[in-house]
Amino acid sequence: METPKALVARLDAEATGLTPQERLRALRAALSGSIVFTTGFGVEDQAITHMVASEGLDLEFAALDTGRLLPQTYDVWAQTEARYGIRIRPFFPQADALDDLVSAHGVNGFYRSIKARIACCSVRIAEPLSFALAEAEGWVTGARADQAAHRKSHGVFSLDEDYKLVKLSPLFDWTRAQALAFATAHDVPLHPLHAQGFASIGCAPCTRAISPDEPERAGHWWWEDEAAKRSDRQASPGASHSRSN
Ligand code: SF4
Repeated sequence: METPKALVARLDAEATGLTPQERLRALRAALSGSIVFTTGFGVEDQAITHMVASEGLDLEFAALDTGRLLPQTYDVWAQTEARYGIRIRPFFPQADALDDLVSAHGVNGFYRSIKARIACCSVRIAEPLSFALAEAEGWVTGARADQAAHRKSHGVFSLDEDYKLVKLSPLFDWTRAQALAFATAHDVPLHPLHAQGFASIGCAPCTRAISPDEPERAGHWWWEDEAAKRSDRQASPGASHSRSN
């Protein structure tokens, strides 16, 4: 029987030259269990939602409702469900953990220290993500290689070490312009803040518009330096890579 590592190596080798839709079909064919697609409603995720829904693939849609999402995100969420006739299941922070977090750090404590920000991401993102993926055998994300340097070492298919899942990023080798062109060509519902300079979509207090000369992810946690942002991947695995956009 093929080990997960061998399966991922084979799928990743075969992914070159395949379209994102073919990659999604290959993942579905390779796994018998549940496959979860976590969407943050950015342009890449919206393109993937269109592909999955149009292909009629048996995947589960999940979104992490941190309690601090941008108001417009809920509008895109509802429009997407209506457009494709799907339900995108929300995963929320645990009430006790949220109570402890806000009691300890304050409602906007994440601005005051890296430790507090990581604690917030852990409760509002990482823990709900672990619930979303608890029963899954496969995980689909909208990550692209050129969004961040650390992603270049991953692949279209990879074995996720944190959650022990076969992970597929079908747009891994696409550019943002390709994702946007695909979404526009297929009249996919897009987050309105993309048109106002938001390259990434995340929590309202931690996401801002960027200027054309800034890296895409500069709009997240802009008050921290890059080394601090990287540290959250060790402390709270889901906090950074659950967001693909
Ligand atoms: Fe908290 Fe900001 Fe992380 Fe959202 S992005 S979970 S508000 S620290």
